[in-house]
Amino acid sequence: MRAGLSETGHLGHRRVNAQPIDDTGNESPRRVRVRIAPSPTGYFHVGGARTALYNWAFARQHGGDFILRIEDTDAERNREEWVDGILDALSWIGTDWDEGPYRQSERGALYQAAVDQLSSARAVYACDCTREMVLERTKGDPTPGYDGFCRDRGLERGPGRALRFAVPKDGVTVVHDLIRGDVEFANSTIDDFVVAKSNGDALFVLAVVVDDRDMAISHVIRAEEHLPTTPKAVMLWEALNSGGETIDLPVFAHLPVLVNEQRQKISKRRDRVALEDYEALGYLPEAMDNYLALLGWSAPGGEEFFTLADLVRDFALENVNHSPAFFDDKRLLHFNGVYLRSLTLEDFTDRVRQWAARTGDPLGEELYSSPTWQSLAPLVQERVAVLSEVPSYVEFIFGSRFEVDEASYDKAIGRDELAGKILSESRKLFAELNLWDAASLKEQLEAVAAQHDRKLGKAQAPVRVATLGRSVGLPLFESLEVLGRDETLERIDAALARLG
Ligand code: GLU
Repeated sequence: MRAGLSETGHLGHRRVNAQPIDDTGNESPRRVRVRIAPSPTGYFHVGGARTALYNWAFARQHGGDFILRIEDTDAERNREEWVDGILDALSWIGTDWDEGPYRQSERGALYQAAVDQLSSARAVYACDCTREMVLERTKGDPTPGYDGFCRDRGLERGPGRALRFAVPKDGVTVVHDLIRGDVEFANSTIDDFVVAKSNGDALFVLAVVVDDRDMAISHVIRAEEHLPTTPKAVMLWEALNSGGETIDLPVFAHLPVLVNEQRQKISKRRDRVALEDYEALGYLPEAMDNYLALLGWSAPGGEEFFTLADLVRDFALENVNHSPAFFDDKRLLHFNGVYLRSLTLEDFTDRVRQWAARTGDPLGEELYSSPTWQSLAPLVQERVAVLSEVPSYVEFIFGSRFEVDEASYDKAIGRDELAGKILSESRKLFAELNLWDAASLKEQLEAVAAQHDRKLGKAQAPVRVATLGRSVGLPLFESLEVLGRDETLERIDAALARLG
């Protein structure tokens, strides 16, 4: 769904109705409000899709709200087309959102108000250190970072001065995480971090907290990579509570990292991670959803295949694993094949047509509406794992697309001294057929094979390559039946002519 696209701005401090819930790890009854907060800095990643799916399922299970927030504060790295990509990707996997997209870039006033509040409460202090100055002072320090130089200088806030959060020197900050339990961070390991840059702009770490408060987010379900900054968020949250409205902290749930076969975090440099690439290759969204859901979570009965409705019913954050989840392309491909084969023939054809329309194949509409396609579709459906494999199975029908694959030619015709004989004898018998159907074609080729003391499979090879252009594909005789007598004979003639 793309509704609500123009909805931006903030919610003020609207309190949403509290709804009793009991199994979310949340003690006080609180309406479930979750969000996905992607940054439009690249293609929408499969990890982002899993985060969206879990948030969405959780919201739907609890009758709560799923909010879309675009974290576009980094103007240099954001592109508008990436925003469209996010909306399209979320729509494709069926995770419809109830509010948003909100945009951080339009909410600066809220962040400024928070900066002012923290500043009046003296939770932050002004700092005029340059990076060079800090580096110079901390040279040789085994744990470099900000050294607190300006903390007690009592500088006034002003241009050219950043604002840093005065992190308590002792004690620990605890992040309550539904997946990992309580995660403790010693405050001594956290530097006085910047919340507003020297030009006055609030930083991302603060913007996220302000938004989560403003949007009354009950659960922050996001990637593990955000766990290290979460204690900062907790500190900011508490500081904002003490000077302003008291709002309960959200419950956190940090999802396991996705890794490839080498156990490396999947990345766009090494792995296929863009959701839109999967769509372009002809994966089905329901297969994608099913597979993504299993990256960290498992169904109560261990089922491999389930629907989105099952996921909404059974999903539990408590059952999400914290160890890295293997994003296995091969297993995903297998899932997709299973889903493709489970479609009705009509639905399969619809998906193929949609896919062809999306990829802009000019032949798409003509091909997939033809009676020829109708005859071949069941054979194709049994064989493909992704929709992008479909054209290579059926293109042979269209004269303009027919092409003999050279490697196949070389193997099945060029290097087979009997190929010429098999082709010419088959041509003769095929031409004499009264009934042009798969069974009769097979009978004729069996006769030719017997003559040369060959197995049918081996005798088929030159005929297949001459007529269908390649060694692998749909069953030969069914294909020739569809191709028709004239075209079949013409193609055999062409191969014979080439042989000389
Ligand atoms: N904008 C962050 C991202 O794209 C998400 C931050 C969050 O969920 O708190 O990874």
